Amino acid sequence: MLARVKDVCKRNGLLILSVLSVIVGCLLGFFLRTRRLSQQEISYFQFPGELLMRMLKMLILPLVVSSLMSGLAALDAKTSSRLGIITVTYYLWTTFVAVIVGIIMVSIIHPGGAAQKENTEESGKPIMSSADALLDLIRNMFPANLVEATFKQYRTKSIPIVKSNKAASESTTRRIIIYGVQDENGSNVQNFALDITPPPEVIYKSEPGTSDGMNVLGIVIFSATMGIMLGRMGNSGVPLVSFCQCLNESVMKIVAVSVWYFPFGIVFLIAGKILEMDDPTAIGKKLGFYAITVVCGLVVHGLFILPMMYFFITKKNPIVFIRGILQALLIALATSSSSATLPITFKCLLENNHVDRRIARFVLPVGATINMDGTALYEAVAAIFIAQVNNYELDFGQIITISITATAASIGAAGIPQAGLVTMVIVLTSVGLPTDDITLIIAVDWALDRFRTMINVLGDALAAGIMAHVCRKEFTKDGDEVPLICEPK
Ligand code: ASP
Repeated sequence: MLARVKDVCKRNGLLILSVLSVIVGCLLGFFLRTRRLSQQEISYFQFPGELLMRMLKMLILPLVVSSLMSGLAALDAKTSSRLGIITVTYYLWTTFVAVIVGIIMVSIIHPGGAAQKENTEESGKPIMSSADALLDLIRNMFPANLVEATFKQYRTKSIPIVKSNKAASESTTRRIIIYGVQDENGSNVQNFALDITPPPEVIYKSEPGTSDGMNVLGIVIFSATMGIMLGRMGNSGVPLVSFCQCLNESVMKIVAVSVWYFPFGIVFLIAGKILEMDDPTAIGKKLGFYAITVVCGLVVHGLFILPMMYFFITKKNPIVFIRGILQALLIALATSSSSATLPITFKCLLENNHVDRRIARFVLPVGATINMDGTALYEAVAAIFIAQVNNYELDFGQIITISITATAASIGAAGIPQAGLVTMVIVLTSVGLPTDDITLIIAVDWALDRFRTMINVLGDALAAGIMAHVCRKEFTKDGDEVPLICEPK
Protein backbone atom coordinates (compact mmCIF):
# COMPACT_ATOMS: atom_id res chain seq x y z
CA MET A 1 0.00 0.00 0.00
CA LEU A 2 2.72 2.43 1.07
CA ALA A 3 4.71 1.46 -1.99
CA ARG A 4 1.70 2.24 -4.19
CA VAL A 5 1.19 5.67 -2.59
CA LYS A 6 4.90 6.35 -3.09
CA ASP A 7 4.65 5.33 -6.73
CA VAL A 8 1.61 7.57 -7.34
CA CYS A 9 3.39 10.50 -5.65
CA LYS A 10 6.52 9.91 -7.71
CA ARG A 11 4.65 9.77 -11.00
CA ASN A 12 2.31 12.67 -10.23
CA GLY A 13 4.62 14.75 -8.03
CA LEU A 14 4.28 17.92 -10.04
CA LEU A 15 0.53 17.62 -10.34
CA ILE A 16 0.11 17.04 -6.60
CA LEU A 17 2.34 20.05 -5.91
CA SER A 18 0.24 22.18 -8.27
CA VAL A 19 -3.03 21.17 -6.58
CA LEU A 20 -1.52 21.87 -3.16
CA SER A 21 -0.24 25.23 -4.34
CA VAL A 22 -3.77 26.31 -5.36
CA ILE A 23 -5.08 25.33 -1.90
CA VAL A 24 -2.16 26.97 -0.06
CA GLY A 25 -2.53 30.10 -2.22
CA CYS A 26 -6.23 30.44 -1.29
CA LEU A 27 -5.61 29.87 2.43
CA LEU A 28 -2.64 32.23 2.52
CA GLY A 29 -4.54 34.91 0.62
CA PHE A 30 -7.54 34.85 2.95
CA PHE A 31 -5.28 34.74 6.02
CA LEU A 32 -3.24 37.74 4.87
CA ARG A 33 -6.39 39.74 4.11
CA THR A 34 -6.97 39.88 7.85
CA ARG A 35 -3.50 41.49 8.24
CA ARG A 36 -4.45 44.51 6.12
CA LEU A 37 -1.19 44.77 4.13
CA SER A 38 -0.33 48.05 2.44
CA GLN A 39 -0.41 48.32 -1.35
CA GLN A 40 3.37 48.33 -1.39
CA GLU A 41 3.58 45.15 0.70
CA ILE A 42 1.02 43.44 -1.54
CA SER A 43 3.02 44.28 -4.65
CA TYR A 44 6.22 42.82 -3.11
CA PHE A 45 4.26 39.76 -2.06
CA GLN A 46 3.00 39.29 -5.62
CA PHE A 47 6.51 39.27 -7.09
CA PRO A 48 7.02 35.45 -7.33
CA GLY A 49 3.64 35.19 -9.12
CA GLU A 50 4.61 37.98 -11.46
CA LEU A 51 7.78 36.03 -12.32
CA LEU A 52 5.68 32.99 -13.23
CA MET A 53 3.58 35.08 -15.63
CA ARG A 54 6.70 36.58 -17.18
CA MET A 55 8.27 33.15 -17.73
CA LEU A 56 5.14 31.84 -19.44
CA LYS A 57 4.70 34.93 -21.60
CA MET A 58 8.34 34.77 -22.64
CA LEU A 59 7.70 31.36 -24.21
CA ILE A 60 4.53 32.21 -26.15
CA LEU A 61 6.12 33.83 -29.20
CA PRO A 62 8.82 31.21 -29.98
CA LEU A 63 6.36 28.43 -29.22
CA VAL A 64 3.52 29.68 -31.44
CA VAL A 65 5.79 30.54 -34.37
CA SER A 66 7.89 27.36 -34.24
CA SER A 67 5.02 24.95 -33.62
CA LEU A 68 2.79 26.31 -36.37
CA MET A 69 5.54 26.62 -38.95
CA SER A 70 7.08 23.23 -38.32
CA GLY A 71 3.69 21.55 -37.75
CA LEU A 72 2.09 22.76 -40.96
CA ALA A 73 5.24 22.38 -43.05
CA ALA A 74 5.20 18.72 -42.11
CA LEU A 75 1.81 18.14 -43.74
CA ASP A 76 0.98 17.92 -47.40
CA ALA A 77 -1.37 20.54 -48.81
CA LYS A 78 -4.37 18.18 -48.78
CA THR A 79 -3.87 17.10 -45.19
CA SER A 80 -3.24 20.59 -43.85
CA SER A 81 -6.32 22.00 -45.52
CA ARG A 82 -8.43 19.06 -44.30
CA LEU A 83 -7.09 19.43 -40.76
CA GLY A 84 -7.60 23.19 -40.93
CA ILE A 85 -11.20 22.95 -42.12
CA ILE A 86 -12.20 20.24 -39.62
CA THR A 87 -10.51 22.03 -36.71
CA VAL A 88 -12.01 25.44 -37.40
CA THR A 89 -15.49 23.95 -38.01
CA TYR A 90 -15.25 21.99 -34.76
CA TYR A 91 -14.11 25.10 -32.88
CA LEU A 92 -16.99 27.19 -34.21
CA TRP A 93 -19.48 24.44 -33.43
CA THR A 94 -18.37 23.93 -29.80
CA THR A 95 -18.25 27.68 -29.20
CA PHE A 96 -21.80 28.02 -30.48
CA VAL A 97 -22.93 25.12 -28.27
CA ALA A 98 -21.29 26.87 -25.27
CA VAL A 99 -23.26 30.03 -26.06
CA ILE A 100 -26.51 28.05 -26.19
CA VAL A 101 -25.70 26.44 -22.81
CA GLY A 102 -25.09 29.92 -21.37
CA ILE A 103 -28.38 31.25 -22.78
CA ILE A 104 -30.33 28.31 -21.35
CA MET A 105 -28.69 28.73 -17.92
CA VAL A 106 -29.29 32.47 -17.70
CA SER A 107 -32.90 32.02 -18.82
CA ILE A 108 -33.54 29.37 -16.14
CA ILE A 109 -31.72 30.99 -13.21
CA HIS A 110 -32.66 34.54 -14.23
CA PRO A 111 -30.00 36.18 -12.05
CA GLY A 112 -30.82 39.76 -13.10
CA GLY A 113 -34.33 39.67 -11.56
CA ALA A 114 -36.44 42.71 -12.30
CA ALA A 115 -35.36 45.18 -9.68
CA GLN A 116 -32.99 48.12 -9.56
CA LYS A 117 -29.45 48.04 -10.85
CA GLU A 118 -26.69 47.30 -8.37
CA ASN A 119 -23.95 49.55 -9.61
CA THR A 120 -20.65 48.48 -8.16
CA GLU A 121 -18.31 50.84 -9.93
CA GLU A 122 -18.22 54.25 -11.47
CA SER A 123 -19.88 54.34 -14.83
CA GLY A 124 -17.49 54.23 -17.76
CA LYS A 125 -17.77 55.55 -21.28
CA PRO A 126 -18.30 53.49 -24.42
CA ILE A 127 -14.97 52.09 -25.49
CA MET A 128 -15.76 51.44 -29.17
CA SER A 129 -18.61 50.51 -31.44
CA SER A 130 -19.26 46.93 -32.43
CA ALA A 131 -18.39 47.67 -36.09
CA ASP A 132 -15.02 49.04 -34.97
CA ALA A 133 -14.46 45.97 -32.79
CA LEU A 134 -15.17 43.60 -35.70
CA LEU A 135 -12.94 45.59 -38.04
CA ASP A 136 -10.18 45.49 -35.40
CA LEU A 137 -10.49 41.71 -35.30
CA ILE A 138 -9.90 41.53 -39.06
CA ARG A 139 -7.11 44.13 -38.93
CA ASN A 140 -5.35 42.11 -36.23
CA MET A 141 -5.35 39.11 -38.54
CA PHE A 142 -3.10 41.04 -40.90
CA PRO A 143 -0.56 42.95 -38.81
CA ALA A 144 1.09 45.73 -40.78
CA ASN A 145 4.29 45.28 -38.81
CA LEU A 146 5.26 41.82 -37.57
CA VAL A 147 7.73 43.10 -34.99
CA GLU A 148 5.13 45.42 -33.52
CA ALA A 149 2.63 42.52 -33.46
CA THR A 150 4.83 40.76 -30.92
CA PHE A 151 3.99 43.35 -28.30
CA LYS A 152 1.03 45.37 -29.54
CA GLN A 153 -2.33 44.80 -31.13
CA TYR A 154 -4.58 47.13 -33.04
CA ARG A 155 -7.46 48.64 -31.05
CA THR A 156 -9.64 51.47 -32.22
CA LYS A 157 -9.79 54.15 -29.57
CA SER A 158 -12.80 56.32 -28.88
CA ILE A 159 -11.85 59.90 -28.28
CA PRO A 160 -14.31 62.54 -27.05
CA ILE A 161 -15.05 65.37 -29.48
CA VAL A 162 -17.59 68.20 -29.61
CA LYS A 163 -20.53 67.22 -31.80
CA SER A 164 -19.96 69.48 -34.84
CA ASN A 165 -18.34 72.79 -35.61
CA LYS A 166 -21.68 74.57 -35.73
CA ALA A 167 -22.93 72.98 -32.57
CA ALA A 168 -19.59 73.60 -30.97
CA SER A 169 -19.62 77.29 -31.72
CA GLU A 170 -23.24 77.54 -30.54
CA SER A 171 -22.66 75.62 -27.40
CA THR A 172 -19.52 77.50 -26.52
CA THR A 173 -21.40 80.85 -26.66
CA ARG A 174 -21.45 81.68 -23.01
CA ARG A 175 -24.77 82.47 -21.39
CA ILE A 176 -24.47 84.42 -18.17
CA ILE A 177 -27.21 85.74 -15.93
CA ILE A 178 -26.23 88.73 -13.88
CA TYR A 179 -28.30 89.40 -10.82
CA GLY A 180 -27.83 91.66 -7.88
CA VAL A 181 -28.80 91.96 -4.28
CA GLN A 182 -30.46 95.30 -3.54
CA ASP A 183 -30.68 97.25 -0.32
CA GLU A 184 -33.97 98.64 1.00
CA ASN A 185 -33.50 101.76 -1.26
CA GLY A 186 -33.47 99.61 -4.37
CA SER A 187 -29.81 100.12 -5.23
CA ASN A 188 -27.57 97.17 -5.96
CA VAL A 189 -25.12 96.35 -3.22
CA GLN A 190 -23.69 93.28 -4.80
CA ASN A 191 -23.85 91.74 -8.27
CA PHE A 192 -23.58 88.04 -9.00
CA ALA A 193 -22.91 86.31 -12.28
CA LEU A 194 -24.42 82.91 -12.90
CA ASP A 195 -22.92 80.97 -15.80
CA ILE A 196 -25.71 78.93 -17.44
CA THR A 197 -23.77 78.01 -20.59
CA PRO A 198 -24.99 74.51 -21.59
CA PRO A 199 -22.11 72.06 -21.62
CA PRO A 200 -21.03 71.20 -25.17
CA GLU A 201 -22.48 67.91 -26.36
CA VAL A 202 -19.72 65.35 -26.53
CA ILE A 203 -19.71 62.44 -28.92
CA TYR A 204 -17.06 59.82 -29.44
CA LYS A 205 -14.93 59.52 -32.54
CA SER A 206 -13.01 56.40 -33.48
CA GLU A 207 -9.30 56.78 -33.90
CA PRO A 208 -6.68 54.23 -34.83
CA GLY A 209 -4.53 53.14 -31.95
CA THR A 210 -2.68 50.25 -30.46
CA SER A 211 -2.92 48.57 -27.12
CA ASP A 212 -0.43 46.60 -25.13
CA GLY A 213 -0.52 42.85 -25.44
CA MET A 214 0.78 40.57 -28.13
CA ASN A 215 -1.27 40.28 -31.31
CA VAL A 216 -1.35 36.47 -31.14
CA LEU A 217 -4.02 36.24 -33.85
CA GLY A 218 -1.81 38.05 -36.39
CA ILE A 219 1.18 35.92 -35.46
CA VAL A 220 -0.89 32.73 -35.79
CA ILE A 221 -2.15 33.70 -39.25
CA PHE A 222 1.33 34.63 -40.44
CA SER A 223 3.03 31.51 -39.03
CA ALA A 224 0.30 29.18 -40.34
CA THR A 225 0.59 30.68 -43.83
CA MET A 226 4.38 30.41 -43.73
CA GLY A 227 4.12 26.80 -42.55
CA ILE A 228 1.78 25.84 -45.41
CA MET A 229 4.05 27.54 -47.95
CA LEU A 230 7.15 25.85 -46.54
CA GLY A 231 5.37 22.51 -46.89
CA ARG A 232 4.75 23.26 -50.57
CA MET A 233 8.35 24.28 -51.20
CA GLY A 234 9.63 20.75 -50.70
CA ASN A 235 13.37 20.37 -50.19
CA SER A 236 14.21 24.05 -50.50
CA GLY A 237 12.11 24.71 -47.38
CA VAL A 238 13.94 22.13 -45.27
CA PRO A 239 16.52 24.47 -43.60
CA LEU A 240 13.82 26.74 -42.19
CA VAL A 241 11.66 23.79 -41.11
CA SER A 242 14.69 22.26 -39.35
CA PHE A 243 15.29 25.54 -37.58
CA CYS A 244 11.65 25.72 -36.42
CA GLN A 245 11.68 22.13 -35.18
CA CYS A 246 14.85 22.75 -33.26
CA LEU A 247 13.40 25.95 -31.78
CA ASN A 248 10.22 24.11 -30.84
CA GLU A 249 12.06 21.34 -29.09
CA SER A 250 14.30 23.71 -27.17
CA VAL A 251 11.29 25.74 -26.00
CA MET A 252 9.70 22.52 -24.74
CA LYS A 253 12.92 21.77 -22.85
CA ILE A 254 12.75 25.18 -21.18
CA VAL A 255 9.13 24.38 -20.25
CA ALA A 256 10.20 21.05 -18.74
CA VAL A 257 12.66 22.84 -16.45
CA SER A 258 10.51 25.84 -15.54
CA VAL A 259 7.47 23.75 -14.52
CA TRP A 260 9.22 23.05 -11.22
CA TYR A 261 8.98 26.72 -10.36
CA PHE A 262 5.27 26.88 -11.17
CA PRO A 263 3.77 25.47 -7.93
CA PHE A 264 5.71 28.10 -5.96
CA GLY A 265 4.59 30.86 -8.35
CA ILE A 266 0.95 29.69 -8.24
CA VAL A 267 0.82 30.17 -4.44
CA PHE A 268 1.76 33.84 -4.76
CA LEU A 269 -0.28 34.44 -7.90
CA ILE A 270 -3.49 33.23 -6.26
CA ALA A 271 -2.82 34.66 -2.79
CA GLY A 272 -1.83 38.01 -4.35
CA LYS A 273 -5.09 38.20 -6.29
CA ILE A 274 -7.15 37.39 -3.20
CA LEU A 275 -5.37 40.22 -1.37
CA GLU A 276 -6.30 42.63 -4.14
CA MET A 277 -9.96 41.67 -4.56
CA ASP A 278 -12.86 43.79 -3.36
CA ASP A 279 -14.65 42.90 -0.15
CA PRO A 280 -16.62 39.73 -1.07
CA THR A 281 -19.49 40.68 1.28
CA ALA A 282 -20.03 43.86 -0.75
CA ILE A 283 -21.00 41.86 -3.82
CA GLY A 284 -24.73 42.15 -4.34
CA LYS A 285 -27.17 39.24 -4.38
CA LYS A 286 -27.80 39.55 -8.09
CA LEU A 287 -24.14 39.64 -8.90
CA GLY A 288 -23.71 36.50 -6.80
CA PHE A 289 -26.45 34.73 -8.77
CA TYR A 290 -24.90 35.94 -11.99
CA ALA A 291 -21.55 34.40 -10.97
CA ILE A 292 -23.30 31.15 -10.03
CA THR A 293 -25.03 31.10 -13.44
CA VAL A 294 -21.72 31.49 -15.30
CA VAL A 295 -20.04 28.81 -13.19
CA CYS A 296 -22.96 26.36 -13.65
CA GLY A 297 -22.86 26.93 -17.41
CA LEU A 298 -19.09 26.35 -17.48
CA VAL A 299 -19.48 23.15 -15.43
CA VAL A 300 -22.19 21.80 -17.75
CA HIS A 301 -20.18 22.63 -20.86
CA GLY A 302 -16.77 21.58 -19.53
CA LEU A 303 -17.69 18.50 -17.55
CA PHE A 304 -20.55 17.09 -19.62
CA ILE A 305 -20.88 18.41 -23.15
CA LEU A 306 -17.22 18.59 -24.23
CA PRO A 307 -16.23 15.22 -22.66
CA MET A 308 -19.34 13.62 -24.20
CA MET A 309 -18.37 14.93 -27.65
CA TYR A 310 -14.88 13.53 -27.09
CA PHE A 311 -16.32 10.18 -26.04
CA PHE A 312 -18.76 9.90 -28.97
CA ILE A 313 -16.14 10.81 -31.55
CA THR A 314 -13.12 8.89 -30.22
CA LYS A 315 -14.83 6.16 -28.14
CA LYS A 316 -12.12 6.79 -25.52
CA ASN A 317 -12.50 7.65 -21.86
CA PRO A 318 -12.56 11.46 -21.48
CA ILE A 319 -11.72 11.24 -17.76
CA VAL A 320 -8.36 9.68 -18.55
CA PHE A 321 -7.73 12.42 -21.11
CA ILE A 322 -8.72 15.21 -18.71
CA ARG A 323 -6.53 13.72 -15.98
CA GLY A 324 -3.60 14.07 -18.37
CA ILE A 325 -4.13 17.82 -18.75
CA LEU A 326 -4.94 18.66 -15.12
CA GLN A 327 -1.72 20.55 -14.68
CA ALA A 328 -2.54 22.80 -17.63
CA LEU A 329 -5.99 23.43 -16.16
CA LEU A 330 -4.44 24.50 -12.85
CA ILE A 331 -2.07 26.87 -14.63
CA ALA A 332 -5.08 28.31 -16.48
CA LEU A 333 -6.82 28.81 -13.13
CA ALA A 334 -3.77 30.56 -11.70
CA THR A 335 -2.89 32.76 -14.68
CA SER A 336 -6.29 33.51 -16.33
CA SER A 337 -4.53 33.30 -19.65
CA SER A 338 -4.92 30.56 -22.23
CA SER A 339 -1.96 31.92 -24.22
CA ALA A 340 0.29 31.80 -21.16
CA THR A 341 -0.91 28.25 -20.44
CA LEU A 342 -0.06 27.10 -23.97
CA PRO A 343 3.43 25.70 -23.18
CA ILE A 344 2.01 23.53 -20.38
CA THR A 345 -0.94 22.39 -22.49
CA PHE A 346 1.58 21.24 -25.11
CA LYS A 347 3.65 19.40 -22.53
CA CYS A 348 0.62 17.61 -21.04
CA LEU A 349 -0.79 16.59 -24.43
CA LEU A 350 2.50 15.25 -25.76
CA GLU A 351 3.78 13.57 -22.61
CA ASN A 352 0.64 12.39 -20.84
CA ASN A 353 -1.94 11.98 -23.60
CA HIS A 354 0.47 11.10 -26.43
CA VAL A 355 -1.32 13.25 -29.00
CA ASP A 356 0.49 13.33 -32.38
CA ARG A 357 2.78 16.34 -32.16
CA ARG A 358 1.95 17.50 -35.70
CA ILE A 359 -1.69 17.77 -34.71
CA ALA A 360 -0.93 19.47 -31.40
CA ARG A 361 1.35 21.96 -33.14
CA PHE A 362 -1.51 23.17 -35.29
CA VAL A 363 -4.63 22.67 -33.15
CA LEU A 364 -3.34 24.18 -29.88
CA PRO A 365 -2.01 27.59 -30.98
CA VAL A 366 -5.03 28.13 -33.24
CA GLY A 367 -7.34 27.06 -30.39
CA ALA A 368 -5.66 29.34 -27.85
CA THR A 369 -6.36 32.20 -30.24
CA ILE A 370 -9.83 31.56 -31.63
CA ASN A 371 -11.46 28.80 -29.57
CA MET A 372 -12.82 30.20 -26.33
CA ASP A 373 -15.91 28.29 -25.29
CA GLY A 374 -15.76 29.61 -21.72
CA THR A 375 -15.49 33.22 -22.89
CA ALA A 376 -18.35 32.85 -25.37
CA LEU A 377 -20.62 31.31 -22.73
CA TYR A 378 -19.79 34.06 -20.26
CA GLU A 379 -20.38 36.83 -22.83
CA ALA A 380 -23.85 35.50 -23.63
CA VAL A 381 -24.77 35.15 -19.94
CA ALA A 382 -23.39 38.61 -19.11
CA ALA A 383 -25.29 40.32 -21.95
CA ILE A 384 -28.60 38.72 -20.97
CA PHE A 385 -27.92 39.46 -17.29
CA ILE A 386 -27.42 43.14 -18.16
CA ALA A 387 -30.68 43.09 -20.12
CA GLN A 388 -32.48 41.52 -17.13
CA VAL A 389 -31.06 44.09 -14.70
CA ASN A 390 -32.30 46.87 -17.02
CA ASN A 391 -35.77 45.28 -17.31
CA TYR A 392 -35.12 44.96 -21.01
CA GLU A 393 -37.15 42.23 -22.68
CA LEU A 394 -35.09 40.50 -25.39
CA ASP A 395 -37.00 39.01 -28.30
CA PHE A 396 -36.02 35.82 -30.13
CA GLY A 397 -34.18 37.69 -32.88
CA GLN A 398 -32.08 39.51 -30.30
CA ILE A 399 -31.22 36.24 -28.56
CA ILE A 400 -30.01 34.89 -31.92
CA THR A 401 -27.99 38.08 -32.42
CA ILE A 402 -26.43 37.61 -28.97
CA SER A 403 -25.50 34.03 -29.76
CA ILE A 404 -23.81 34.99 -33.04
CA THR A 405 -22.03 38.05 -31.68
CA ALA A 406 -20.91 36.22 -28.49
CA THR A 407 -19.30 33.59 -30.72
CA ALA A 408 -17.59 36.33 -32.78
CA ALA A 409 -16.56 38.27 -29.67
CA SER A 410 -14.92 35.20 -28.14
CA ILE A 411 -12.94 34.66 -31.35
CA GLY A 412 -11.77 38.27 -31.14
CA ALA A 413 -10.77 38.01 -27.48
CA ALA A 414 -7.06 37.53 -26.87
CA GLY A 415 -5.95 34.71 -24.59
CA ILE A 416 -5.01 37.12 -21.83
CA PRO A 417 -6.68 38.01 -18.49
CA GLN A 418 -10.10 39.67 -18.82
CA ALA A 419 -9.89 40.10 -22.59
CA GLY A 420 -13.51 38.93 -22.79
CA LEU A 421 -14.62 41.98 -20.86
CA VAL A 422 -13.33 44.23 -23.66
CA THR A 423 -14.94 42.32 -26.53
CA MET A 424 -18.27 42.25 -24.64
CA VAL A 425 -18.93 45.65 -26.23
CA ILE A 426 -19.62 43.84 -29.52
CA VAL A 427 -22.38 41.78 -27.94
CA LEU A 428 -23.98 44.61 -25.99
CA THR A 429 -24.06 47.12 -28.84
CA SER A 430 -25.46 44.53 -31.24
CA VAL A 431 -28.74 44.46 -29.28
CA GLY A 432 -28.69 48.07 -28.07
CA LEU A 433 -27.75 47.39 -24.46
CA PRO A 434 -25.79 50.07 -22.58
CA THR A 435 -22.04 49.39 -22.78
CA ASP A 436 -21.54 51.36 -19.56
CA ASP A 437 -23.22 48.47 -17.75
CA ILE A 438 -20.14 46.32 -18.26
CA THR A 439 -19.07 47.97 -15.02
CA LEU A 440 -21.87 46.05 -13.25
CA ILE A 441 -19.99 42.79 -13.61
CA ILE A 442 -16.41 43.96 -13.10
CA ALA A 443 -16.42 43.12 -9.38
CA VAL A 444 -16.65 39.37 -10.01
CA ASP A 445 -14.94 39.19 -13.37
CA TRP A 446 -11.43 38.44 -12.08
CA ALA A 447 -12.74 35.21 -10.50
CA LEU A 448 -14.99 34.15 -13.40
CA ASP A 449 -12.12 34.79 -15.80
CA ARG A 450 -10.11 32.01 -14.12
CA PHE A 451 -12.89 29.46 -14.55
CA ARG A 452 -13.67 30.40 -18.13
CA THR A 453 -9.96 30.24 -19.02
CA MET A 454 -9.90 26.67 -17.67
CA ILE A 455 -12.76 25.76 -20.01
CA ASN A 456 -11.02 27.53 -22.91
CA VAL A 457 -7.91 25.42 -22.33
CA LEU A 458 -9.94 22.25 -21.81
CA GLY A 459 -11.76 22.87 -25.11
CA ASP A 460 -8.47 23.26 -27.01
CA ALA A 461 -6.94 20.15 -25.47
CA LEU A 462 -9.99 17.95 -26.14
CA ALA A 463 -10.10 19.30 -29.68
CA ALA A 464 -6.48 18.18 -30.20
CA GLY A 465 -7.44 14.70 -28.93
CA ILE A 466 -10.43 14.59 -31.28
CA MET A 467 -8.45 15.82 -34.30
CA ALA A 468 -5.72 13.27 -33.61
CA HIS A 469 -8.42 10.60 -33.78
CA VAL A 470 -10.29 11.97 -36.80
CA CYS A 471 -7.15 12.54 -38.88
CA ARG A 472 -5.33 9.38 -37.75
CA LYS A 473 -5.67 7.79 -41.20
CA GLU A 474 -3.80 10.65 -42.78
CA PHE A 475 -1.01 10.23 -40.30
CA THR A 476 -0.59 6.49 -40.10
CA LYS A 477 -0.46 3.79 -42.71
CA ASP A 478 -0.47 0.19 -41.53
CA GLY A 479 0.60 1.38 -38.12
CA ASP A 480 3.54 3.39 -39.44
CA GLU A 481 3.68 7.13 -39.58
CA VAL A 482 3.27 8.48 -43.08
CA PRO A 483 6.56 10.12 -44.10
CA LEU A 484 6.35 13.84 -43.69
CA ILE A 485 6.41 16.02 -46.72
CA CYS A 486 9.09 18.36 -45.59
CA GLU A 487 10.72 16.52 -42.71
CA PRO A 488 14.44 17.21 -42.47
CA LYS A 489 16.55 14.07 -42.54
N1 ASP B 1 -8.76 35.05 -19.97
C1 ASP B 1 -9.35 34.35 -21.07
C2 ASP B 1 -8.31 33.48 -21.74
O1 ASP B 1 -7.15 33.77 -21.68
C3 ASP B 1 -9.99 35.28 -22.06
C4 ASP B 1 -11.17 35.97 -21.43
O2 ASP B 1 -12.26 35.39 -21.44
O3 ASP B 1 -11.05 37.07 -20.91
O4 ASP B 1 -8.65 32.49 -22.34
